[in-house]
Amino acid sequence: MVKVLETDVLVIGSGAAGLWSAIKVFDSGIDVMIITKGMLSRSGCSRLSGFHWGPYNPENISLADIDHLGTHIRLFNSKILRSILEYSPVVVRELERLGIYWRRRSDGKIAEHKPDIPYPLAWKAGETGQRVMDILYSETLRRGINFIEDTMATSLLLSNGRCVGATALNYMRGEFFVIKAKATILATGHPGVYRYSTQSRENTGDGIAMAYRCGAEIVNMEFQHWHHSDTQYPESARRLVHNVPSWSECFFGKEFLAKFKGIPEGTEVCTIVDKEGRDVMKELKKLAATVDTFHSPSVQQIIALLYGKRGGLFMRYNQAILKTGVLADSFYNYRPLTNFYHLEKELVPLGTTAHTHAGGVRINERCETTIPGLYAVGGVAGIYPTVLTCLWGGATAAKYAAEIVRKTPSPELDWSQVEAEKERVESFLRLKPSDGFTPLQIQRKIRDLMWDKMWIIKTVSEMKEALVELSRIEKELVPKMGLETTVKSGNFGWAHALEVINMITVCRLMIWASLTRKETRPPHIVKDYPRQDDENWLKIVVLKYKPDRPDEPEIKIEPLSDPAYLYLSSRGGH
Ligand SMILES: Cc1cc2nc3c(=O)[nH]c(=O)nc-3n(C[C@H](O)[C@H](O)[C@H](O)COP(=O)(O)OP(=O)(O)OC[C@H]3O[C@@H](n4cnc5c(N)ncnc54)[C@H](O)[C@@H]3O)c2cc1C
Repeated sequence: MVKVLETDVLVIGSGAAGLWSAIKVFDSGIDVMIITKGMLSRSGCSRLSGFHWGPYNPENISLADIDHLGTHIRLFNSKILRSILEYSPVVVRELERLGIYWRRRSDGKIAEHKPDIPYPLAWKAGETGQRVMDILYSETLRRGINFIEDTMATSLLLSNGRCVGATALNYMRGEFFVIKAKATILATGHPGVYRYSTQSRENTGDGIAMAYRCGAEIVNMEFQHWHHSDTQYPESARRLVHNVPSWSECFFGKEFLAKFKGIPEGTEVCTIVDKEGRDVMKELKKLAATVDTFHSPSVQQIIALLYGKRGGLFMRYNQAILKTGVLADSFYNYRPLTNFYHLEKELVPLGTTAHTHAGGVRINERCETTIPGLYAVGGVAGIYPTVLTCLWGGATAAKYAAEIVRKTPSPELDWSQVEAEKERVESFLRLKPSDGFTPLQIQRKIRDLMWDKMWIIKTVSEMKEALVELSRIEKELVPKMGLETTVKSGNFGWAHALEVINMITVCRLMIWASLTRKETRPPHIVKDYPRQDDENWLKIVVLKYKPDRPDEPEIKIEPLSDPAYLYLSSRGGH
């Protein structure tokens, strides 16, 4: 007999989006439960985040401000974007009441970014995510919200076309169980499926795969973001997040540099150089100006990437700034970095890392997916990926889920679905044959494949090869996938095996979407279609599960009903 827990709202995932959803549902007087892979608030990528609001004043961001984030932003629904921006000043006040520090000027307004200060919300660059997540964690505990850790949702349950909860595996107890809910909020984060990724290890695209398998529409899967200047060494799946050029221009504002005599305003903390020590940034900027295809401001990043996949670019730190000691105080990766590099003498070799993903489960401005009763928030949703988006998603989904819950009776379960999922999950608790593979070995093969064939500059032929190779992995390697032991409790390999299946699904969706969009629209870049084609491609790629062809989605190319580009073009955008 499978154990059934019951709640009004089930939240899956405990990053910023999941915790904020749960807090908001609880505050509206509704029963809520969180299940999370790994530990509450400590799993997922929110804790790793810079948590800054970009170069904007969080009390007053406009849609026009965010236009520079990449040309793909123009495809997003402007109702959603506007709603997110309207929420920014509201959540700023709320976070402040919870104890989060925003630097304010003498007139009481939030101190703006450049040139006055570094990021408005930052005690230390890059460590802010930890502090914000600590606060969300204690707010969750303070309310006594129910949560179950080390628990992976394995499928979403439907009854009469409505989402009525999820099945889950608690891999510490070795227990498969069901959580029945009137509304389910999916908050499982971005898919981290590349060899090098800024994502945490729990983020294997489970939410997207589960929603897809139960018939939800998936959008924007071709838009993968990248960090271009993390460190190449030490060799690690999660390179030291370095990304200095993006903050060197803005982090050390006037106020900071004024403290250090002899360092002129505008001094760069570091420059990108080639192996002879020549400053390539200037050259790249010049080159960028001549390439009309890449007219997005992210062009320098993209061209740097052309050099950077296999190395060849280096970071040189400004010696005068190093001597001030300001980096040691303000740059969270300074100490790990100096364990490996002598910054006064050495150049730091740079590498690229897959970062957040703009694709995911399709939502409307109420965070409803195309499956009634199922909401998607944060990185798992198919919208622009930021912390602000997560917090907006949490508050919005909570509001509308609470409304539904008040009108919805306790749902019935479809037991045939539960039994089928139990059988599927248990089928992965099997020993590895002598010529077989562990789940992590297969995960590594998938990550390597994505790195080699689905890197930032793509070609149609490599993408097609990637599809063929994924099918080979699925047909030849997965049947030989097994565990070192079939003990049920504490068997992480069991969860890893389920992740393999989700990763294959998500990678396929990324490839199909990328093959479908026949243009370049940064960060989606395809050599075969080097131009951005606004005439034909101000559209979104929508993917849907075909039960008779699980390896090939139904693909729709849809004009947007309320596109951000109309608003952006009206102000004479690029
Ligand atoms: C290094 C780095 C720097 C960043 N800097 C910034 C920044 O400065 N500003 C900004 O706005 N954004 C930034 N971002 C992006 C931002 O952090 C993310 O968009 C955001 O944190 C995503 O939050 P989330 O709650 O959706 O997902 P996550 O925080 O990743 O949480 C996902 C949760 O889902 C759980 N989960 C996954 N699968 C399952 C499953 N099957 N069952 C149960 N639970 C599951 C995970 O364990 C985790 O708890 C950064 C990201 C990174 C990695």
